Amino acid sequence: MDQLLQQVLQVITQRHAEASSTGVTPSSEAIAAADNFVSLHGHLDQHGLGTSATLAALLEKVAPALIGGQAGPRYFGFVTGGVTDAALLADLLVSSFDQNVQVHLPHVSIATTLEVAALDMAADLMHIDSRTIFTGKTLTTGATASNVLGLATGREAVGLSVMGPDFSVADYGFAGFKVIVLHASGHASIAKAAAIVGIGRKNCVDLADEPNSPHFDIARLESLLRKSKDEKTGVIIVISSGEVNSGAQTRNVPEIRALADTYDAWIHMDAAFGAFAPSTESHNLHLADSITSDAHKWLNVPYDCGLFYTKRRDLLFQSVAPMFDVKGQGPAYLQSNSTRDGEQQQQLQQLGQDIMSPLMVGIENSRRFRALPLYASLLALGRDGYEQIFEANVFFANKVAAWMEASPDYILLNGNMERGSDELVSSIVLFCASDSNSGGFNTKTDGNERLLQSLNDSREMYVTGTKWAGKGAIRLAVSNWRTGAGEKDAEGEETDFATVIRVLQRVMNTE
Ligand SMILES: *Cc1c(COP(=O)(O)O)cnc(C)c1O
Repeated sequence: MDQLLQQVLQVITQRHAEASSTGVTPSSEAIAAADNFVSLHGHLDQHGLGTSATLAALLEKVAPALIGGQAGPRYFGFVTGGVTDAALLADLLVSSFDQNVQVHLPHVSIATTLEVAALDMAADLMHIDSRTIFTGKTLTTGATASNVLGLATGREAVGLSVMGPDFSVADYGFAGFKVIVLHASGHASIAKAAAIVGIGRKNCVDLADEPNSPHFDIARLESLLRKSKDEKTGVIIVISSGEVNSGAQTRNVPEIRALADTYDAWIHMDAAFGAFAPSTESHNLHLADSITSDAHKWLNVPYDCGLFYTKRRDLLFQSVAPMFDVKGQGPAYLQSNSTRDGEQQQQLQQLGQDIMSPLMVGIENSRRFRALPLYASLLALGRDGYEQIFEANVFFANKVAAWMEASPDYILLNGNMERGSDELVSSIVLFCASDSNSGGFNTKTDGNERLLQSLNDSREMYVTGTKWAGKGAIRLAVSNWRTGAGEKDAEGEETDFATVIRVLQRVMNTE
């Protein structure tokens, strides 16, 4: 085993050193070879290969067929982030220790205490207070799971305000109670969460003021809130803080908060990556009842690690506690009869420091120690280190966006956002080929798909396609800690920016 461990460490060391120079995506030959291997070894053998031969197969057959650059600086698909150095080292330890972080046993393991510290530190970075206000908090498998928790907790809250103090969907099911989710171009995972918690996809209503916009049509929002109150329908408002295509932040959040208070609606904010956007405006995260964010995106810790916070720890517990009868079973201060009044809320807030067993406030029972890489990364980088990453990423995206604005071959689709006046975009560059582009990518036919394919065939960068205003578009999302770092004073080697521009030019035959 000693030698095999050394071998793995060597591979990791080499990958770390070459993160910027290797092909982003695998060759088709590598995929074919791996396919072949997996189809040959897709049934359980009577006798195993043994550890050594297995490692050899992983390194020779499987690894070359993975997206080698997914954790690197020129993978711009989705919003994936990478892995900071501290997070990588910590993650290796996690697999070795194999802690199961489900029950708070402070005298047996520090794991749960450390998880709460990591959650509080991430909240510090987001400028929200999870020590005394957002005391319901847990690490999840990702933003989707956090959205499930947000809708589940919101569902309990609106059930109480509409149906009365003894009503609980978690206890009795919906029993005729209807809940709707009002959003503005919400992420698809909101529909998934609505499906899972029993609200139903068809009860999600898009109130965007125009297609793809994260801004609400406030008049429609208010009229639906009023109608719902009359009809005794519960309402959860989902605000996407960071629309996935453009990175745009929702407007009028204080006004939406005031409406939610008037009509007893719950506000869930999906700030998977937007929570960390360096912005001149406040994100208004503190105005939410529950918040989703992701650590495996812009915080650059390994998959999978999502963040969830809510001001109603009592209702989070009520929503997910693994017991057949929650009444009287939880910690004394969480018992359900008294959890529903203001006094109990106050008491809960005073007890904000108390740590609950993660299985009482999250989806899973058994859980990975995903807190350790997050904790290590926050510890290593501090606020300054992280803010430098966010700023370098936005700087990089703006440099690409500015180049596109000046290019006759491309159209920047998310320019001139209402951010700082000298900034074009957030961390996402949304674009398509111009009508007169020199590469012949006619957007009226299959031009967008061909452009996407050509860019990715370079294997020097990776971007993903999307739909924008009914047409095909391409999204270049910058979220890796290496991207843009040192871009300002790079000399000698080709920078990531220069590589990206070269690829953008080459596909247009203008290199
Ligand atoms: C990525 C993303 C999600 C889904 O996150 P996962 O971590 O993939 O589950 C949800 N909402 C928004 C706004 C996102 O960007």
